[in-house]
Amino acid sequence: MVVREDGSCAQDSTVTNIDDDLIALRREIHRRPEPAGEERETAGLVAEQLRAAGLEVTTGVGGHGVVAVLDGAAEGPTVAYRADMDAVDTRTGALPFPRSDRAFDEGFASRVPGAAHLCGHDLHTAIGVGVARTPARGPVHGRLVFVFQPAEEPLRGARAMLGTGIVQGLAPREFYALHCAPFPAGTVTVSPGYGLPGLDHVRMVLPGSDDATVAAVVAEVAALGTIAYPRSVAEYHARFRAVLDPGIAASIQESVGIAQWTERTPEGWPVANVLLRVWPQERFPELRARLGRLAADAGGRVEFPADPFPALVNSAELSIAAGRHLSAALGAESVLWGRASWPYNCEDFALFLDEAPGAQFYLGVADAETGINGAPHAPDFAADERAIGHGVRAMTSLLTARLGA
Ligand SMILES: [Zn+2]
Repeated sequence: MVVREDGSCAQDSTVTNIDDDLIALRREIHRRPEPAGEERETAGLVAEQLRAAGLEVTTGVGGHGVVAVLDGAAEGPTVAYRADMDAVDTRTGALPFPRSDRAFDEGFASRVPGAAHLCGHDLHTAIGVGVARTPARGPVHGRLVFVFQPAEEPLRGARAMLGTGIVQGLAPREFYALHCAPFPAGTVTVSPGYGLPGLDHVRMVLPGSDDATVAAVVAEVAALGTIAYPRSVAEYHARFRAVLDPGIAASIQESVGIAQWTERTPEGWPVANVLLRVWPQERFPELRARLGRLAADAGGRVEFPADPFPALVNSAELSIAAGRHLSAALGAESVLWGRASWPYNCEDFALFLDEAPGAQFYLGVADAETGINGAPHAPDFAADERAIGHGVRAMTSLLTARLGA
């Protein structure tokens, strides 16, 4: 691929070779999935590829994190790009959907029991490597920073990497990332001002409550939820499409997702644990107060093991600029516009966006014709690998353009 000065791109015969190379890298990672905190070999592969491409690479950043820097020939701004590397623990991280009996990773399926790349981070990693390697072949103004993050699934890795201060020391002006989504391969979705919900854990401790009282509390908490979790890939696809539909999206501008489980304290008191996924995150104080009143009415109290985990909020301005750029560079039909937040998943790229404005895009990886579902965390998640080259071209073009902006 040739990336022009203005960030638009022209394809040449090297595209296929690059794409094949990155598909091979993705398959290698897919075959040896490493769950959160264990990304040693994946990080090693990434570091090796980036060093070979001439980037300045730091490893062991907040666990198995990798930070790589590509300096241009001329002065300019710093723009960062982040990819996550960890696999899903299939015992806890697979959605309880009926699975189809079709597999799309024949020949490179996971060889690790209990781990699989059900969230597409193997594609994210391969795309990140592809983006980092491509501009190395041409002049770049300013500096590109590549952040390969471990432990996204438990929302730990971004915080651990930021804890080292290395990313802040590089002071990126903007931060970008993408995530696989069940939209058609060949598309990138921008969501100006939207993103993914914040997460809060509330423990409602109910000393002396009998089972009926606890059940009543659980039911009242459940009634605060505004969304039902999808139960099949078909429902998942329909819910995702809703964020693109102006009419439906208007009705889901706020969302509260509730997950609950009960346990007992060592003294034997019942505890109702509540996980809240909330958009917008400004609603957390009100919801905490409501749960506090419900617990107090039952003679109990609430505890907060941690501060709420922040929502991922895409910059409206930079998302619109990105959408316009990608429409011009790749064709308007390649760009979809998200008009609501996807309410079911949290994402710790949120913490990088707290350091610098930017956006996470959805990379379409589904293919209706072949039955590739593209639905992250589905037990039979599969991705159309043509999306890898598309993601590389989209992000390379965008980052190049942002350095010139
Ligand atoms: Zn993910």
